[in-house]
Amino acid sequence: MKIICIGRNYAEHAKELGNPLPKEPIFFLKPETALPLKRNPIFYPDFTKDLQYEVELVLRICKLGKHIEEHFAHKYYREIGIGVDLTARDVQKELKEKGLPWEKSKSFDGSAPVAEKFLPINDLDSTDKIEFRLEKNGKVVQRGNSADMIFSFDQIVAHVSQFMTLKVGDLIFTGTPEGVGPTSIDDHFEAFIGNQKLLQFNVK
Ligand code: ZN
Repeated sequence: MKIICIGRNYAEHAKELGNPLPKEPIFFLKPETALPLKRNPIFYPDFTKDLQYEVELVLRICKLGKHIEEHFAHKYYREIGIGVDLTARDVQKELKEKGLPWEKSKSFDGSAPVAEKFLPINDLDSTDKIEFRLEKNGKVVQRGNSADMIFSFDQIVAHVSQFMTLKVGDLIFTGTPEGVGPTSIDDHFEAFIGNQKLLQFNVK
């Protein structure tokens, strides 16, 4: 099982990090070990001084596929969940400056807390305007809407599958909206789709 993460899929977030808008989806991988062994607590890694949260809608692949056409992409996911792409921003900055891969900053153990419960797409009004948010210590820090994605779920599935086979159970993090920020030990996070709280964890 693999976790595919889309970068810079919300214009306001690309702007806040000073990145240009992509012409095609940018993606990177997290390994299975990025899923925390237990969802709670999340441990602050000792190699960073700037652990940041990025809340994202997550697709779960339900069908094996490669070279998927955009027109058929919707058949490859039936559920949407929510997760946090934890990022060691200081480490990422250094790697970016040197033109090196991001894995040390993005793909470490426990860097991908994902809600256990996924919502069946059939239960959602539409996949084009899914509201989601992240609260830190009871205050909203990020608010997103799938309507603001640069690349749609179908475009992402089609694009990624041109390069790698998607397998049942693979997860795709579909990018974070603006408002990413730092975490500290003892912070408490809660992530919502609509008004359903699907994920919560403490940082230790
Ligand atoms: Zn991300």
